[in-house]
Amino acid sequence: MPHDPYRALYLHIPFCASRCGYCDFATRAVDADTVEVTEYMEGLILALRRAAKQGDLACVETVYIGGGTPTHVGAKHLTQLLYALGLSMHLTDEVECTVEANPESLDERLVRDLWALGANRLSIGVQSFDDELLGVLGRAHTAEKAREAIRMARTRFENVSCDLMCGLPGQTLEGFEADVREAAAAGVTHMSIYPLTIEEHTPFFRAVKVGSLEEPDEDAQATMMEAAARILIAAGFHRYEVANYALPGFESRHNTAYWTGKPYLGLGASAATMTQNATRRMRVQDGEVTDDLDERQMAAEDLMLAMRMARGASEEQVAAARELGLSVDEALAELEEQGAVVHRDGRYQPTERGWLCGNVLYGRLLDLAP
Ligand code: SF4
Repeated sequence: MPHDPYRALYLHIPFCASRCGYCDFATRAVDADTVEVTEYMEGLILALRRAAKQGDLACVETVYIGGGTPTHVGAKHLTQLLYALGLSMHLTDEVECTVEANPESLDERLVRDLWALGANRLSIGVQSFDDELLGVLGRAHTAEKAREAIRMARTRFENVSCDLMCGLPGQTLEGFEADVREAAAAGVTHMSIYPLTIEEHTPFFRAVKVGSLEEPDEDAQATMMEAAARILIAAGFHRYEVANYALPGFESRHNTAYWTGKPYLGLGASAATMTQNATRRMRVQDGEVTDDLDERQMAAEDLMLAMRMARGASEEQVAAARELGLSVDEALAELEEQGAVVHRDGRYQPTERGWLCGNVLYGRLLDLAP
């Protein structure tokens, strides 16, 4: 179908040093020096060059190299990929270009190379600064390594993000608060904070089933999420999305593109592509259509996505949904009554309570156009 230009590009690298116990991402633990990795990276560069030739990258504003663990494949492969990216599109400073990194595979040389070749944001998978918890999660790094990774990243990158997890087995509120404080004090400009979820087909899932691991306590997770908000807001961050905090000007533009319905191109195994025009939105993954939405469903999805962000939905967006015949006023009135949404400054915004019961909030809006 004729479609709007892609605004965001995602490149997937499906390899890790080892497999974490909770992870259900499209990735595998392999040795970085294998033929498989070399062939995969060559294929990815080929796909990138082809996309450039077809004109698919002409309007790309953000790039995200994610995984898996991109830094696991090492400097040679990553620098070749960034070099090819630089030839394929205008990788200027205005383009946000993020590389995901894990502490065990980041070193000073790699930091310098990534930065020199046009990456301008590093997102580091820290998860916790507690060695015991890192061991429980099956992470391939220590807390000290994570501290070192942030320190190294900051020698070149102004924009450094760090991921932390909460609601981990044996994690205390005080321990989690110390993690959040430590990350903020280490000078990161962005933080993503996720509660542990138990996904099917993971070692954690099996452990919960046989009773050797307790299911995460949702109330404890909610308390930790609230504590993170308190600490980070006091440290000058703002919560611009349910799980994301940034210092002013350091919000992730790539993720914001996903949450504001901008079309994106995904290259590599299991990378999703979202193609759309004014009346149709399709998502394709590994050659399979996973979503095919009409105009009404698009409007409902955009409202749902808007509620993930603190700024919520504008009155214009709501009016456009109304014009398509969606009972949006009824839904918003109901959500306001439940305390999940508040109408202020010309926008409908999610409340803390709305975010805590996210499934209700998002589900009610998606149901506007099933
Ligand atoms: S490092 Fe990340 S992608 Fe790799 S196994 Fe662990 S959680 Fe999954």
